[in-house]
Amino acid sequence: MAVETLAITTFNAIMFIIKQSKDLIRYLQKQRSAKKKIRFVPTMGALHQGHLSLVKKAIGESGVVVCSIFVNPTQFNDPKDFELYPKTLENDIYLLEKQGCDVLFLPDMNEIYPTGTGHSRVYELGYLESVLEGKYRPGHFQGVCQVVHRLLEIVRPNQLYIGQKDYQQCLVIRRLLTLIHSPAEVIVCPTLREPNGLAMSSRNMRLTSAEKQKAGGIYEALSFINRNIKPGPVKEIIEKAGNLLAQKELAADYIAIAGAEDLQIIDIWDGRTEAIALIAAFMGKVRLIDNMILPLNFADYGN
Ligand code: AMP
Repeated sequence: MAVETLAITTFNAIMFIIKQSKDLIRYLQKQRSAKKKIRFVPTMGALHQGHLSLVKKAIGESGVVVCSIFVNPTQFNDPKDFELYPKTLENDIYLLEKQGCDVLFLPDMNEIYPTGTGHSRVYELGYLESVLEGKYRPGHFQGVCQVVHRLLEIVRPNQLYIGQKDYQQCLVIRRLLTLIHSPAEVIVCPTLREPNGLAMSSRNMRLTSAEKQKAGGIYEALSFINRNIKPGPVKEIIEKAGNLLAQKELAADYIAIAGAEDLQIIDIWDGRTEAIALIAAFMGKVRLIDNMILPLNFADYGN
């Protein structure tokens, strides 16, 4: 079985690096027979503390933590973004092993797309695909479903760990699991941030330190909405949040308030519907996204 282990293990545990799906399938079958739960953290690498927080959460009793690194071309609607996506494999391996990950699955294109990247199936994502990220990044969520579906077929996890930072992706993945009848339990983990509030992201590596500082404006705008939202029309608060972004030279694709369950855009908030504020904005050529769940405003309804 072509399993590679790191030559030097600086830490107490050994992490397997497995490149072929047939080897991973065989390995995980043995783990299942030994009554181990399979906990899976899919990533595109260039790992940061946000990714590692998912791995940390996945580590537990009687479990095997599998992290995958695969930069999936089919989810990039902009080929330049794909080309420039940061790659830091050596450091990723170091961080994962240090964190206590059991297996790194490192497939190549042939493993994930043995018959090429042509869409073999269209996933019925409905409204989720036409709003916000779906609208600004056509085809993106079909690509996400394509790769996650394939990874789930290989790993067949008991639990799947994903980040709230990619909120719409969380909803899409939940929908995917229903569509493909996967029994995996989804664990959504909170967003880890830099000290200035900027959500950690692999794309932040493409920012200068001055740009990183200014990109903290996304968190400021979300916090502003969070502090000031009241039942009623949301137009004015969105405009003010837009001004905060502009002051930091952030160019917004969208600033939206939407239903937290279905992402239906909210123009007039009733104060009772669980809502979320979402922003996508460019700092220079780098596109960043973030979101914040909004507090419910019961006071106005005498509850
Ligand atoms: P990516 O490598 O960007 O595809 O991300 C892999 C997983 O890590 C996804 O489930 C992301 O939502 C999650 N993730 C990315 N950034 C963060 C963050 N700052 N905090 C927590 N989770 C994150």
